Amino acid sequence: MTDPRTEINPLAESFARRAEKYDRTASFPGENFDDLFAAGLHAPTVPASYGGLGLGPYQGDAHGLWMITTKFAAADLSFARCWEGHANSLLMIDVLGTREQKDSWFEGVVRHGERWVAWSGEPQTGEPGDRRRFGTSVEQTADGWIVNGSKAFATSATGADWAVLLVNVDGPGGARGSQTGVLMLACDLADPSVSTDPSWWDPIGMRATVSHVVRFDQTYIPDSHRIGLPGDYLRLGLQSAFVPHYAASFLGAAEAAYAYAIEYVHQQNKATDPYVQHRIGSMAVAVETGHLLLRHVADLWDRGVSTAAKLAATRARHMMEHLALDTVDHCVRSCGARCLVRPSPVERILRDLTFYVRHDNDDHILATIGRAALDQPYDSSFHKP
Ligand SMILES: Cc1cc2nc3c(=O)[nH]c(=O)nc-3n(C[C@H](O)[C@H](O)[C@H](O)COP(=O)(O)OP(=O)(O)OC[C@H]3O[C@@H](n4cnc5c(N)ncnc54)[C@H](O)[C@@H]3O)c2cc1C
Repeated sequence: MTDPRTEINPLAESFARRAEKYDRTASFPGENFDDLFAAGLHAPTVPASYGGLGLGPYQGDAHGLWMITTKFAAADLSFARCWEGHANSLLMIDVLGTREQKDSWFEGVVRHGERWVAWSGEPQTGEPGDRRRFGTSVEQTADGWIVNGSKAFATSATGADWAVLLVNVDGPGGARGSQTGVLMLACDLADPSVSTDPSWWDPIGMRATVSHVVRFDQTYIPDSHRIGLPGDYLRLGLQSAFVPHYAASFLGAAEAAYAYAIEYVHQQNKATDPYVQHRIGSMAVAVETGHLLLRHVADLWDRGVSTAAKLAATRARHMMEHLALDTVDHCVRSCGARCLVRPSPVERILRDLTFYVRHDNDDHILATIGRAALDQPYDSSFHKP
């Protein structure tokens, strides 16, 4: 049987051709997931024993997963976010799921192409002039849980079949709420008590992630769909395993801008311009540095999930944000105004990256790196001050 990973490059080319359509229409990249399923690439972090690729930071091959993500992000950063959400959710099930849960949910993915995502998305601060508030409450019943409220940033809202809800028994805030109260509940999104409100999602970029507001109206989730125990998500540092995955996506955006600039500069016969050479040089160094950083972090992870691996992941997330933003800026300055006119991909990459790096606050990330270096207490999951 051929290794499905031989399909990654041709698939990435199709994903790149579709990216502009999904961005313009702010719609879920469903065809991409269909292609992944057809190619046998749809279960990246599902163990091989269940028919998956057996990749990821808990399968001894973090680099294998991250390099696929980088390739997909170079084609379409929004799609890469949806792919990350799917891969990260399957990883949670692999690490904390019961035998019954794995048998059932991995079968749904491997045999039927089911799509997963993980939703915390309960920012607790309001926006000027907007009375909307996000947040859920969760109530335990004799044999399950009742979820009420709303989540924002619910990536793949119109395309996923299942969502791991990160809710909090101690009140709204999801995974960014109380440390000990985080609960993971697998929610079947076909449940009629779950509804999507598309009226909020109109961002500058990452439009095809369809990260809408999702509402839960007395949504019942059986206790057999609880993944692990309350607090496990942060206690086991699962969020820390996702931090370098964001960096892998940022690296993809940088690679795409760099490749575009090289082609553009040759097309315009500007390769002998010393300023252009400077900027291309900076991009080459940034992309190589990104790869070296992720290789280093992956080696630490593959040697065992350690404090050093989590801290290296935080440093890589910080560096990759700046390396990627700088690379796109060098690309724009080398190419000029027309590279920001659609259908140039740089126009979309700039919008998508500018927005996606806001997923976490880099000031807090850098302070976390400093606190660790100063032997101060720190949070390698959400870099809380
Ligand atoms: C493209 C995209 C896709 C996403 N997909 C998902 C997903 O699939 N699943 C999911 O769970 N989440 C997802 N998120 C949400 C993400 O995890 C964060 O919850 C979200 O980005 C936070 O939004 P915010 O910065 O507006 O919110 P806030 O949390 O309100 O933060 C606003 C700013 O204030 C800072 N801040 C907050 N509190 C304080 C404080 N007390 N003191 C000082 N500064 C503070 C924050 O660091 C941030 O910089 C996604 C986000 C993006 C951008």
